[in-house]
Amino acid sequence: IPISRIRNFSIIAHVDHGKSTLADRLLEITDTLRPEAGKQQVLDRLQVEKERGITVKAQTVSIFYNYKGEEYLLNLIDTPGHVDFANEVSRSLAACQGVILLIDANQGIQAQTVANFYLALFQELVIIPVLNKVDLKTAQPEAVIKQLGSLFDVDPETVLKISAKLGTGCDEVLKAIIERIPAPQSNPESPLKALIFDSWYNKYQGAVSLLSIKDGSLKKGDTVVTAHSGKQYIVKSVGILRPHEEEVETLSGGHVGYMMCNMRSTAEAKIGDTVYLKNAPVEPLPGFRPPRPIVFAGVYPMDQSEHIAMKKALEKLALNDPAVTVIPDTSAALGAGWRLGFLGLLHLEVFSQRLEQEYDATSIMTAPGVTYKVRIKGDKIVRLHGKELLEISNPAHWPEQQHIVEVQEPMVLGTLLLPEQYYNQVAKLCIERRGVEQESSMIDKTQMMCKFILPLNEIIVDFHDAIKSVSSGFASFDYEDHGYEVTDVTKVDILLNQKKIEELSMIVHVSKVKDEAKRLVDKLVEIVPRQQFHIAVQAVVGAKVLSRGDIKPYRKDVTAKLYGGDLTRKYKKLRQQAEGKKKLKMVGNIQLHRETFIEVLKR
Ligand code: GDP
Ligand code: MG
Repeated sequence: IPISRIRNFSIIAHVDHGKSTLADRLLEITDTLRPEAGKQQVLDRLQVEKERGITVKAQTVSIFYNYKGEEYLLNLIDTPGHVDFANEVSRSLAACQGVILLIDANQGIQAQTVANFYLALFQELVIIPVLNKVDLKTAQPEAVIKQLGSLFDVDPETVLKISAKLGTGCDEVLKAIIERIPAPQSNPESPLKALIFDSWYNKYQGAVSLLSIKDGSLKKGDTVVTAHSGKQYIVKSVGILRPHEEEVETLSGGHVGYMMCNMRSTAEAKIGDTVYLKNAPVEPLPGFRPPRPIVFAGVYPMDQSEHIAMKKALEKLALNDPAVTVIPDTSAALGAGWRLGFLGLLHLEVFSQRLEQEYDATSIMTAPGVTYKVRIKGDKIVRLHGKELLEISNPAHWPEQQHIVEVQEPMVLGTLLLPEQYYNQVAKLCIERRGVEQESSMIDKTQMMCKFILPLNEIIVDFHDAIKSVSSGFASFDYEDHGYEVTDVTKVDILLNQKKIEELSMIVHVSKVKDEAKRLVDKLVEIVPRQQFHIAVQAVVGAKVLSRGDIKPYRKDVTAKLYGGDLTRKYKKLRQQAEGKKKLKMVGNIQLHRETFIEVLKR
């Protein structure tokens, strides 16, 4: 197929607006799928993704489509839909010349619609606006078209209306892809220049890279170099995805396809890296940026005897997810484990869910936190660390208060879309989380867009849920990096029977220390199971006790009489869990649920 009949495009959408459904429908219309496979969404491959309805790894499929008597090759590049993976989204978009901006005609424009629109706009891609779910009675396509006009200056004439579920209007989408999106441009005379925009791990082949061929061509037997590492590989196989791997002779300019070359892990196939032929080095493509973890958490085996099994599981998972960083770490209470770095909270949740599902490893995760930059004083200490500005992502490593000159914390710029009537509640929530409003405006008669600068630490745990709950589910939130700012935080420690449990230590803003100390203690009293002895719970800053509580000892026969209704049931449940599923962890002589370290953070 000549390059003039290739189209590389992506579907971008807020979560649940129908991206996977549309992708499947396009595959079906073009007979890319065998009918029996059409039942489930093919592009959401992993179990976690299916459960959560999110796409984590970008997946691509090549579609052949006959249009006006000529055969076209349409490469659908399925970007991850979540802000945590913005880096992967923009790499995937770098392989495209156009996008379908899919919007649920009931919900209208949401926070991720805005973020995705600008990603596509900055990459100068053709944007085809498509309203989905017009089959629903509650659809308001005209209102959404107005929003598109006022926010993005979209011409109403260019907006398509479809039902991905029923297939209505989906032919028009294919037509628009061919007519509106330009063919890729490439110089076949130039030497090979290809962008790695995704990679995954295959048991038999090692890392498989997905390439967008900018110039030249690539075939089996070529010796290639990855620009970032300078490493050489012999190409074992190239091909396209339909959506399973289908080998081809050559991948030439404008094409999108896979390359297998015995890379041992996906860490070698760095997303954003450039591939060239050994004897014809080229200037690397711009914008290579290693993934930067921003949320950190400790992970420990439930039982130290599982340490080796867990290590294997982590290594295997990390092979497939180069964005996660894994560093060995030891904790006084939990033993030998690891400190993991993630792109965001969703990334953390997906990873830990995979750890459980795919490897059956029982793990304890500690509360997620961010990286602070701490300026310390005292020649000795500075010399000890070799620098003045320490980067600390584990509260256990927090310096003594008297050595700290200044602390900086990571900030984000959040974008919120919401119906006007929820503005007060949403703004109140943002301010409680130490947010500072930047600008807010109406995007039509009822919908607002607000921007807040917020500390990352305040949104990593339950902010999404909180936003949804104060807005009856109508507000949506997305964020981008906004650098570091000086802040006033301190470390709150938790003592159980006078013993410091370092894994429960937390970095807290001074304005919240009192409330937070009380909340932590109350929460622990609620979630730590009663034991045969009394437990004193204290929250302290340095030597100062800010809050205290008691966990009364458990006395078998009296329990039921003492605590009526809910508590009894809850207590029974806890006991069943303890007995049946081995879910309690001894910390010193105290038994904790393995979820304690994360639960304690949830408000
Ligand atoms: P994604 O998160 O963007 O991939 O969204 P999905 O494709 O998973 O769709 C989210 C939900 O919307 C699913 O329950 C779909 O069945 C439903 N859905 C998708 N397209 C349509 C449509 O055109 N009409 C209706 N009524 N529902 C749809
Ligand atoms: Mg999906």
